Amino acid sequence: MRLKKRKDKKVAASGEDEKEEKYYCSVCGREINEEEYKTYDGMCRECCDDQLTEESEMMFKDLM
Ligand SMILES: [Zn+2]
Repeated sequence: MRLKKRKDKKVAASGEDEKEEKYYCSVCGREINEEEYKTYDGMCRECCDDQLTEESEMMFKDLM
C-alpha cells in the first residue's frame, strides 16, 4: 500500500485536483483501484472470485 502525503494544496487552483478516486469493494469494503473496480464489477478480485464460484455453484444446482 502506498502512502501519499499531500503537502501542497495549491494544486486545485489549476484544474482538477488529481483525478484519483477511491474505489472500495462492494462486498468486503477493501480499497481497490479503478481497474479492479471496472474489471470485477465493483468488487475486489477475491470477492469477484467468490461470487463467480457461488454463481457457478448455483448453476450446477439448477442443473441437477
Ligand atoms: Zn472484496
